[in-house]
Amino acid sequence: MAELADVWVHVGMMVMAAPAVRVAVLVLVPGVARPGAAPPGRRPVGLQAAHRDQGQPCNEDENDAHRRSLAALRAIFEFVRTRLAIFAIIFFSTPTYATPTPTVSPTPSPVASPVPVPVPVPSPAASPAPAPPPDPFHGGKSISGFKAANHVTFTFDDGPDYHNTPAILDALDAYNIKATFFVCGYRFGGKSETAQKNRETLAEIVKRGHLVGNHTWNHLVLPQQQEPKLSWEIDKNAELIERETGRYPYLFRPPFGSLSPRIAKALAKRGLTTVMWSSDSADTKKPFKTEKVHKAAIKGILKNSGGVVLFHDTHKWTAKAIPLVLADLQAENCRRLAASEPVIEVVNLDHFFIPKVGGEPAPSPTPEISAQRQAWRSQLETACKVASARND
Ligand SMILES: [Zn+2]
Repeated sequence: MAELADVWVHVGMMVMAAPAVRVAVLVLVPGVARPGAAPPGRRPVGLQAAHRDQGQPCNEDENDAHRRSLAALRAIFEFVRTRLAIFAIIFFSTPTYATPTPTVSPTPSPVASPVPVPVPVPSPAASPAPAPPPDPFHGGKSISGFKAANHVTFTFDDGPDYHNTPAILDALDAYNIKATFFVCGYRFGGKSETAQKNRETLAEIVKRGHLVGNHTWNHLVLPQQQEPKLSWEIDKNAELIERETGRYPYLFRPPFGSLSPRIAKALAKRGLTTVMWSSDSADTKKPFKTEKVHKAAIKGILKNSGGVVLFHDTHKWTAKAIPLVLADLQAENCRRLAASEPVIEVVNLDHFFIPKVGGEPAPSPTPEISAQRQAWRSQLETACKVASARND
């Protein structure tokens, strides 16, 4: 195949070079008839022709001189003719189509290429951003936790407290638990160093995935407050929480759990959900002892098969009691797992805002809650296996 291709290339080159050969013959070979050339018997040129026209004979010297001049002219003529022939051969025997050369892709000129038309970007005024989904805690509900069979959630009031809250956050992390912190603006509003440290603690609460609720600015007994002081206590704190956390707090816990129809109406008007509790750890009542808080919390959880448990993250005895409470609850759940009994699942408040089936919270409709429940369950089962292996 290669030889055949070479033959065809040579034939092609010969065909293509035909014009060159023809021109070379015309130039190199004297006397070859050319279109438009003078016919045979043309007039002689040079001195001989001049003398003949004048009827005078030529002498030998003159003839020699004439012959030399003529020979010189012929030499010049031959030289020019040869160069022209070589040039013609080169010019006509190198057609671009006889020996294909790499095809150069045509470069689109800026004029020929279409100029990209900028896509108009809709301005915010032209198409407003879609409204964010409604906050699940908006709607004026009331939660106490008394009907939360086998589901428990932990709540912490009166913080943030940079002395005690961080230890509680660490304990919750160790058990893969999310909780809710009801905070007071007087602790983290303002320019004091304490307020700044408490703001950082609040940021840590949010960073670790916990919920933040409104506990009023000054922690006053609300039924004793009149307008505009009542609204200021609620709204000023909500404004500060939103500024620090980026989320308006629709979860609300009245200080001391103190409510009245007038206060309930003021909360409902704002779409706030009131969160009470079913188990009190009694960590604000004397004696302030870790063991007392620990046992009170566990007793309330087992008695109610879960529920909403009240703590205050502003006390060191509470911070010390939390790891003990969580360890006891885990041991109880491991026992239940081994006995094939339903465990007391630790959830966050958002779990209480999902549809209920037969009085029980239904499986979570949101990926976040489902993922959290799965994470807690995995942590529990792993811990139970480790504990069981240790006991064996
Ligand atoms: Zn409180």
